[in-house]
Amino acid sequence: MDSKPHPLHIFFFPKLAHGELIPIIDMARLFARQAGVKATIVTTQLNASFFSQTIESERKLGVDIDIHMIKFPFMEAGLPEGCENFSSTTSQEMGLKFIKAVVSLLQQPLEQILEDCRPNCLVADAVFPWATEVARKLGIPRLVFHGTSYFTLSVFDSLLRYEPQKNVTSDYEPFEVPGIPDKIEMTRLQQPDELRERVDDEIKKLMYQALESEITSYGVIMNSFQELEPAYVEHYRKVMGRKTWCIGPLSLCNRNTEDKSQRGNTASIDPVECFSWLDSKKHNSVLYICFGSLSCFSAAQLYEIAKGLEASGQDFIWVVEKKMNKEDKEKWLPEGFEERMEGKGLIIRGWAPQVLILDHEAVGGFMTHCGWNSTMESITAGVPMVTWPLSNEQFYNEKLVTLILKVGIGVGAQEWSDWMVEKKLLVTKENIAKAVTQLMVGEEANDIRNRASALKEMAKRAVEEAGSSHSDLKDLLDGLRLNSSPREL
Ligand code: UDP
Repeated sequence: MDSKPHPLHIFFFPKLAHGELIPIIDMARLFARQAGVKATIVTTQLNASFFSQTIESERKLGVDIDIHMIKFPFMEAGLPEGCENFSSTTSQEMGLKFIKAVVSLLQQPLEQILEDCRPNCLVADAVFPWATEVARKLGIPRLVFHGTSYFTLSVFDSLLRYEPQKNVTSDYEPFEVPGIPDKIEMTRLQQPDELRERVDDEIKKLMYQALESEITSYGVIMNSFQELEPAYVEHYRKVMGRKTWCIGPLSLCNRNTEDKSQRGNTASIDPVECFSWLDSKKHNSVLYICFGSLSCFSAAQLYEIAKGLEASGQDFIWVVEKKMNKEDKEKWLPEGFEERMEGKGLIIRGWAPQVLILDHEAVGGFMTHCGWNSTMESITAGVPMVTWPLSNEQFYNEKLVTLILKVGIGVGAQEWSDWMVEKKLLVTKENIAKAVTQLMVGEEANDIRNRASALKEMAKRAVEEAGSSHSDLKDLLDGLRLNSSPREL
């Protein structure tokens, strides 16, 4: 009898935004490293350029992974040439146009490639509502990738089902999220537009179609691990009735400095310079501040952050958004800030090698917007968080971090808004300094740090041989092999 595992060719189709590309690329690499698995990532040229070097390094090690390029339909989408990633959009209107284009215009090119290559399985981001049907027509199982927590999916499901947000009289009045394992209160102000009747019918329809295609898919893959949120993994399986595999933390597939420093984009700082700066600092003494790949703060809010950091007295690395130009800099930096912070604070203008920084022992805190990748990366590195949710599902992730895992302190952000829309409420420098100090020094800080260290160990164990994520991955691949007929790789 042939003892070799039945070969599998898996296609990965990510959404065109860093927050979804990064974990899917890690996932494709993880799959392709398993015996008898070939991975093909389908994306556009610009998006491929963010990770082609990483894929090349993987191939040099003998891993069977490649990229299949498709053209981005600029003309049909009414978008300027080069606008292939969500981060290239510059207004809310353009962002919406981009989402609609990605969701509706990429179906045909993907369908064509699937037909030509006939892989054994398609892993597509949750945003593509037609992916399950497209795969089904070709007799291929479709797996959904959700780049968030089980906790968030459980809360969102509860709010869609029971609509407690409709029973309060003001945006500020708290309501309880019904039917989930813990008592969680939220306000309407923290909810995304979809739950506040503030999106157009087309977006709403796409959302419901995506949910439907999740239910009829082969199952859902998540960048989480069983021990992190066991009650919510169970809720998702038993109460929401989904088939799921948690195989994270995906960032742990980046094993060496090169992998970590080029992950997602080209770093705007020489990793050696960044490291030698961190090497000069005491253990757990530096606060790392970064709000993901899309953040867009007003000059007034950036000014408050600068003042708050200075008042906290902590050393810091602050990643300031890419769109900031020299004139803007004059508007937001307090007079003489950079001179006063010389040696104490490092500002990175552009892309930071985040995983590399979080893994450094000098880093003792992370001020984050609670994007799920950043949250998982912080947990994986054992770094406590100052939570500052802004948009998407980040207010839910904050609840998980602060109330359930208890590895973070909220800065007091109250207001959800689309990433390009300026917030009405400012988080003050006093609140910022207070949360940072509470997280970095004192007895409570030590307790939080101990809990974060314990989670770090659990995360590492989950991906080791016989760990929960490792077993889930094996179980998934075994099932796919049983489900598919052998194909030539
Ligand atoms: N990231 C990074 N450097 C940056 C900004 C972001 O490496 O300067 C990475 C970060 O490590 C994470 C991803 O980009 O993997 C951001 O994903 P997340 O879900 O945290 O937030 P989003 O960008 O989707 O809002």
